[in-house]
Order: sequence, then C-alpha cells, then structure tokens
Amino acid sequence: MTFLKHWWLALFRVLTILGVGAALGFYFGSIASGLLVALMVVLLYWSYQMFRVEQWLSEVAEEPPQAAGVWGLLFDYIHRLQSQSAEAQGRLESSLHYLQDSLKSMRDAAIITDPWGNIAWMNDSAGSLLGISLDKDEGRPLVSKMRLPNFSDYLAVGDYQVPLRIPPSSEQKRCLQVEVSTFGGGDKLIFIKDITEQYKLEMMRRDFVGNVSHELRTPLTVLKGYVENLQSLDSELVSKIQRPLVQMDMQVVRMEVLLKDLLWLSRIETIEGADKTLPIYMTDLVAEIIEDLRAAYPERKIDTHLEHDDVILGDATELHSAVSNLVVNALKYSGHDDLVTVEWKLDAGFPTLTVRDEGEGIKPQHIPRLTERFYRVDKSRSQATGGTGLGLAIVKHVAVSHNAELLIDSVYGQGSVFSMVFKPHQKGTQAALQ
Ligand code: ADP
Repeated sequence: MTFLKHWWLALFRVLTILGVGAALGFYFGSIASGLLVALMVVLLYWSYQMFRVEQWLSEVAEEPPQAAGVWGLLFDYIHRLQSQSAEAQGRLESSLHYLQDSLKSMRDAAIITDPWGNIAWMNDSAGSLLGISLDKDEGRPLVSKMRLPNFSDYLAVGDYQVPLRIPPSSEQKRCLQVEVSTFGGGDKLIFIKDITEQYKLEMMRRDFVGNVSHELRTPLTVLKGYVENLQSLDSELVSKIQRPLVQMDMQVVRMEVLLKDLLWLSRIETIEGADKTLPIYMTDLVAEIIEDLRAAYPERKIDTHLEHDDVILGDATELHSAVSNLVVNALKYSGHDDLVTVEWKLDAGFPTLTVRDEGEGIKPQHIPRLTERFYRVDKSRSQATGGTGLGLAIVKHVAVSHNAELLIDSVYGQGSVFSMVFKPHQKGTQAALQ
C-alpha cells in the first residue's frame, strides 16, 4: 500500500475517533468535552509513536519498532534510509582504507597536510626518509619539521606544476624530488621521492660528456694545426690532396664547434641550480647581439622592438648564448629576403623575448622534440648550415635555470616564433624537463 493510501487511512481513523468522541460527548451532554478527550487520545498515540522513533534512533537499534499503518511505513522508510547510508559509509571507509594501505605500502614518502600545512597523516616511508613520525608530529607544521632548502618557499608559492628538486647538500646527503597536489578544501598530498641514484647517474653522464669534450680539444687543436700547415705548403703532393685537406679542415672546424657547444652545455647544466642574482639589462644585451649579427649577416634584415627597460636577474653569458642561438637559428632557417624580428617587451605582465622569422617553419610533430640534444628536423640541412643540434638544448637549459618558459610556435611553410617568458624569480632548482 502506498504512503498516500496509508495517510488517508490514518486520517480516516483520526476522524473516526473524533466522531466517536463527539458522539459520546453528545450522549453525556457535552460534544466539546467528547471531542477534547478524543483529540487527546489521538495526540497521546502520536506522542507515543514519536517517542518510539526517538528511542529507536538514539539507541541505533538494528530493527525498527513494529507499528501499523502510516507509522509502520514511516519506520520502514527510515530504516531503509539508515541501511543505505550505513552501506555507503562502509563502502567509503573500505575505499579509504584501501587508499591508505596503498599509500602506506609506497616506497616514496607520502604526507597529507591540512590547508594550513599541519601534518594530518603520513606513511612509514615519510618517517624513515625525513625523520618525522605521525605520533609525535601530527598537527605540527610540516615546514618546521622538514628543514629542506627551498621547500617552504615552494609550498608557499602554490604553483606545483613542475616538481621541486632538492639536490644533496651539507645537511642532507640525498637528492629529493617533491610533488604536491591540492585536494578537498586546500589539503595537500605531498610525495617525496629519493632520486639520489638518478641524480648520480645524471652527474656521471654530465661529467663524462664534459671530460671527454675537454680531452678531445687538445688532439683536435694538434690536428687542426697540421692540416693548416699542410695546406700552406707549396708542394706537388699537397696540391694533389688539396680537396681532402679542405674537407678535413671543414670537419675539424665542425668538431671544434661541436665540442665548444658540448662544453658550454655541460657548464650550464652543472651550475643550473645556482641562483641567478646579477641584474641584466636585456635591452642592452639584445641590442649588442643584434649589432654583432648585423655585421656577420650584412645582407639580412633584422628588426628589433626593445620596449621593456627593467632588468632581470640572471647570468649575462648564458642569456647571451640563448638569445644569439635563437636569432642565428631564425637567420639560418629562413630565406635570404625573409625578415627576422626580435622583441623584448612585457607580455601579459611577464618580460618576454620573442624571435620571429618568416622562414621554412616546423611541422607540429617535431616541435616537442626540438630541445632534445642533437635533434634536428633535417640533419643534412642543419649540417650544411653549420648546426650541431645543441643550440635549442642550450636555450632550454638557460631558460629553465632563469625560471623562464620556452615557447615554440610555428606554421610549416610560413615561419616560427620562439619566446622566452621570464616568470618571477623563484629560488630552488626545478626539475628540468629532460
Ligand atoms: P641546429 O644546430 O641543428 O640548428 P638547434 O638545436 O639549434 O640545432 O635546432 C634544432 C632543430 O630545430 C634544427 O635542426 C632545425 O631543424 C629546427 N629549428 C630551429 N630553429 C628553427 C627555426 N627558426 N625555423 C625552423 N626550424 C628551426
């Protein structure tokens, strides 16, 4: 029977009781008194049922009290809701336990903080990796417990898109990577990974490339000297091998450029984490580069719009190499009559360097890989223009170490735009993208 039918039945019962009350009242000479007594009976019954509901709910008894009619239906209805909500709560609790168990079993440290940065939960790895414990430190500010360089700045800034990398220091011997995500009403889930092994491997690779490049310079200088000497000799033999000698000279020059770029890249990588604190007048620096390039490429047209006067903090030599790499590329990969434009201005509030060309452009599938070492869209074309494939890798590293974003936009056949967008200076080394 539906609730409405029960309701009508209940109303009918109340009216019947009132009717009986009125009839008895009439019999005893006062209809009003009869009605009053009947009303009191109804009210007493309802109060009794409400009392039972209250008792049942407060005792959280399993089974609902037995009752007929609309009250019985109401009890069943509440009971059904109760069971559904208990089931949902059970499911929620078990998924919460499941999640906590999976976080617990992780080798990485996992910490949950409230919106104010106080420790709410952590797994065992957090304890062993960072020397903190849930028993002692629950409710305490995480930054006061973890004295890691740059960690509190990173948390406070609130931009967690790029993980924070904390290299080994005198206080702590491990290399850590911190990843933060915000959830709920501002709670934070913080993962801290021990990437010491990866860091050591990177260091070994960097040192290896640096050392090999350095060691190769001396034999190359000797080779270059001999080739030049041979070329200057005026003998019949030399005239016979003139072509191979020219080829050798060209290849030696290529190797020199390659070694120079490799050494430079390895130097930038080594000091990438160091704070860039010197004020750089980019307007002057860019103007100087363009003047040199106009002298080197007198037939080419280079326009400049240097509109932003403020200084940025950085390393002049690194910025010089990044800007000249971008402009030289724009000249190399565009036609003789194509215009190259260099801008230094505020874009959406950020100091931005833009190098624009009307050259051959780049197909979209190549763009994400351009900053990889030795990645070239067209190897033979790049070699013909004296490219090493390291130019954009250098630009990328300079950008990362200056907290700038390198943006590449290009339409194949129409030209390319390379921009370095300088974000407010943030302390600490962010994990390089490659
Ligand atoms: P490379 O020494 O070969 O120029 P880079 O690292 O500077 O090496 O550039 C990588 C590749 O990106 C180049 O080989 C070229 O194919 C492409 N590239 C760079 N700049 C431009 C540009 N302005 N227009 C078109 N292609 C470009």
